[in-house]
Amino acid sequence: MKPAAFKYFRASTTEEALQHLEAHPGSKVLAGGQSLVPLMNFRLSRPEVLVDINGVDELNRLSVEGGEVRIGALVRHQQLAESVDVARAVPVLSTAAQHIGHWAIRNRGTIGGSVAHADPASELPAALVALNGSVVLRSAAGERRLPADEFFQGFFNTALQDGDLIVELRIPVSKSRFGFSEVVRRPGDFALVGAYIERAGSSGAVTWFGLSGRPERLPVDAWPQGESDRRALLERLVGALPVDESEDYKRAMAVNVAERAYHQAEGEK
Ligand SMILES: Cc1cc2nc3c(=O)[nH]c(=O)nc-3n(C[C@H](O)[C@H](O)[C@H](O)COP(=O)(O)OP(=O)(O)OC[C@H]3O[C@@H](n4cnc5c(N)ncnc54)[C@H](O)[C@@H]3O)c2cc1C
Repeated sequence: MKPAAFKYFRASTTEEALQHLEAHPGSKVLAGGQSLVPLMNFRLSRPEVLVDINGVDELNRLSVEGGEVRIGALVRHQQLAESVDVARAVPVLSTAAQHIGHWAIRNRGTIGGSVAHADPASELPAALVALNGSVVLRSAAGERRLPADEFFQGFFNTALQDGDLIVELRIPVSKSRFGFSEVVRRPGDFALVGAYIERAGSSGAVTWFGLSGRPERLPVDAWPQGESDRRALLERLVGALPVDESEDYKRAMAVNVAERAYHQAEGEK
């Protein structure tokens, strides 16, 4: 199928993109097109206006400064996966980016698109929650910064409002150690379930994704040293979460991926 007819504007600056978004309520931003274009082809999405941001160079910056990793909305997944600065500052972010889809997808898909799309099985939205990151949004009314936990609201549902443009993600460089693991049917598929583990001394957190509509971060006061105690803790934590489907299987997988991520965190740095 082909998409329904739409008007197309190509912006070359952030200001220009914002002007188009304001002038055309209900319009959609076009970034890598890896999620939006299939939805349009199936006519599950029928925007009357597309605002293409691929020519906006200022959204394509990636840097580590002031104790934060700053990732412009137009940075491609593959750029994130290959960045030496990111690998040094927040190694788990590079690891997670390498698990997004296939090379062709990573080469086109953008971090802004991934975060706006908010697929509950996506690696990056969960990374943002696990790493206490935030999303910088701009609209004709100005700029605001939302913690990831507030930004992701549910199944493909975020705090984005009509006229908003994601301009940047910010992730603090932390002293904690992080681990990541996921279960996929085939390499390159979306995760069935995945986990990030944070180890900050003896405490930390577990963040699960693919279980319910949004990534869930649960703090851990003290990580048990022994594996059976740790698994019991993880079982208790996941038992209290809402799980959308195949409950027993998903909860069991969630404990296994978290345990793998825990060991990975041990080896980080
Ligand atoms: C076969 C296949 C496998 C995939 N596997 C994975 C996977 O394993 N893990 C994973 O995480 N993803 C996966 N993806 C999705 C991929 O990561 C997409 O790149 C991503 O979800 C969307 O990014 P995009 O830049 O292509 O956004 P687009 O498709 O251009 O846009 C997606 C949505 O975000 C909005 N949007 C885009 N940019 C902005 C912005 N700056 N501000 C506001 N709104 C914006 C658009 O309007 C649209 O609603 C896969 C995709 C395919 C086709």
